[in-house]
Parts: sequence; C-alpha cells; structure tokens
Amino acid sequence: MTGVYLIHFAPAYKHAKHYLGYAEDIDARLQAHRDGHGARLTQVAVAHGCELILARVWPAGDRTLERQLKNRKGTPRLCPVCGRKHAQLHLYMDTALDFTLQDVDELAF
Ligand SMILES: [Zn+2]
Repeated sequence: MTGVYLIHFAPAYKHAKHYLGYAEDIDARLQAHRDGHGARLTQVAVAHGCELILARVWPAGDRTLERQLKNRKGTPRLCPVCGRKHAQLHLYMDTALDFTLQDVDELAF
C-alpha cells in the first residue's frame, strides 16, 4: 500500500514517540523499520527495545501530505494509539467515581 504512515513507539524513545513517513510499500517499509533498516530514528528506537506500532495510514497521502503533517508538529494528536490511552484514562476515572458513589449509598442505608 502506498501512502503516508504514522509509527507509534511503545514505549517512547527519549522525547520521540512517533515517526511519520511516506512509502510506496508501507508493509515492506514497516518491516524494514522493525528490522532496523529504516530511518535513523526508528533504528535507534528498535535498538532500545521500543515496539513500532503502525498507528495510522493515509492511503492517498503523498510526500506533500507527509511534509504538511510533519510541519504541523502535532503528531500525538494524529495518533489513535495516543488517543485511545486518553480514552481509557477517562473510562477508568468514570468507573472509579461510580464505585465511590455506590460506597456512599451503602453507608447511608
Ligand atoms: Zn501515539
């Protein structure tokens, strides 16, 4: 598949959490990244034990889109993996609040 892709590092490598790139064959390129033959950043991330997760693909994306997304500097906001973490945190907080209210009810009766 040709397009622009976003790789999420788990865990983050120093201050780097993502790599955004363009490839004519994303599957092959992702494999190259994971094998340590990709970009310098993904190479050192893999060497430090980070898992490279393909977080998002823009199938019609080209080098112009790649450049536009990189210039935006808001890569975490583009990443569904990071977004899901925030969603889980909110879910956890809601659940914790429910338990607290139930405890109060039981004590009151
Ligand atoms: Zn992410």
